[in-house]
Amino acid sequence: MHTTSNDRLTHFLPRLRTALSQLREFRLQQLAELDAEIDGTATPVDPADIARREVTINLAAAARHALADIGEALSLLAAGHYGRCRGCGAEIPIELLQTIPTTRWCSSCRQRLTRRRPQNRSREGTPTRASLP
Ligand SMILES: [Zn+2]
Repeated sequence: MHTTSNDRLTHFLPRLRTALSQLREFRLQQLAELDAEIDGTATPVDPADIARREVTINLAAAARHALADIGEALSLLAAGHYGRCRGCGAEIPIELLQTIPTTRWCSSCRQRLTRRRPQNRSREGTPTRASLP
């Protein structure tokens, strides 16, 4: 490696930091709305309402998970350790970081993880910039 992770990303870091902050705002707002919905409604009796509540609770859990990922990405960024694959230690391509700023896996490790857990899509739930309001 002829460049450090920081040198490679210096040019992109401000925008990545902004993207992460926006994601965090988005998730905090989403979580506040979901929590309000969970707290604001009585314990459902109707099966359809029970199912709906279950979905809301799962969404809130996913939002909390995403917030934890975002927080971790921001502290890695602050510490200068952002952009390295946690599986193999390789530099994560900038294109992937721009698409999924919270990712901590390179493409090949990510594919391996996805294959191993085909039912678990929660880690794929991070919205891209395109899905932000
Ligand atoms: Zn990797």
